[in-house]
Amino acid sequence: MMNFKLLFLIILNFLVIISCSEVANKKKSATKPPYAIVIHGGAGTLNQKEMSKEKAMQYTNALDTALTIGESVLKNGGSSLDAVEKTIRYLEDCPLFNAGKGAVFTHDGKNELDASIMDGKNQMAGAVGGVTIVKNPISLARAVMEKSKHVLLTGIGAETFAKENNLEIVDPSYFFTENRWNSLQKIKAEEDSIEQSKRSENPDKKFGTVGCIALDNNGNLAAGTSTGGMTNKRWNRFGDTPIIGAGTYADNNSCAVSCTGHGEYFIRYAVAHDISSLISYKKMTVEEAGNEVIMKKLVEKGGEGGCIILDSFGNIAMPFNSEGMYRGYAKPGQKKIQIFKD
Ligand code: ASP
Repeated sequence: MMNFKLLFLIILNFLVIISCSEVANKKKSATKPPYAIVIHGGAGTLNQKEMSKEKAMQYTNALDTALTIGESVLKNGGSSLDAVEKTIRYLEDCPLFNAGKGAVFTHDGKNELDASIMDGKNQMAGAVGGVTIVKNPISLARAVMEKSKHVLLTGIGAETFAKENNLEIVDPSYFFTENRWNSLQKIKAEEDSIEQSKRSENPDKKFGTVGCIALDNNGNLAAGTSTGGMTNKRWNRFGDTPIIGAGTYADNNSCAVSCTGHGEYFIRYAVAHDISSLISYKKMTVEEAGNEVIMKKLVEKGGEGGCIILDSFGNIAMPFNSEGMYRGYAKPGQKKIQIFKD
């Protein structure tokens, strides 16, 4: 009889220990993958009924290729920074997205590009704002991080730095796409017909910014974001994309984040850093932190958009409070691409 009691107590003890360690490991995914990569291609009013199957397929294929590019870097033991840069370069060269070749137009009919990148290992970061002749702003952001003593370079200074560091320079006309030009004309025509006080803060409800976050085999996280900003922007406006802590953040101890949406709100509420802080100080999961900031705080304040979040255990969240967000992720043996709410 005594032996049964003892055995029962030992088993009970064992079960308690297991369930406690499960709670402690709530944040760790069951099988921590050797690598993971997550991307977005912007959020906004993406209406499933209005988008043709062909268009949706074009975006899905582009996101798929982007993930394959980043995944092959990580599979071959490359760093998360290399994966982020290479993936974003592809998205910048793809005219479908509002970054690099597909960038939107300013009020004055120019393309002014912003980008940033951050290393989760040591919080080194680089960013550029308002560049007009650099083919791949994400590579310039990385050069700022690695080859200068600064974090954020803008305008002509950033372009001079790009030339000195042999980045690819193009004529501003390289960034012209008819689609984006027509969007500008449409917004301007609407503006002319509405009196100033009734104008919407954000008449173009589509955000096509691109972002990538990755975890490499050494457990290092990195994040990067690149954009043309918002159609019809004026006065050398920057959004959240080149602001570290607003549009981009990475810390191996919490997570990597890349945002897309109405930049002014993401700057005011330091969205990327806020998410990282909830994970490091409040021990929230990526999902809980994303919901708190994107689905509660930003919704309350009227800030539209979304983000992608990845922690060093390979946990992923992709919250957005708009109708849709181009997004996808890949881990060994897994790949998923989505546009709308499923
Ligand atoms: N966040 C970007 C900006 O405000 C826009 C976007 O995400 O498309 O510049």
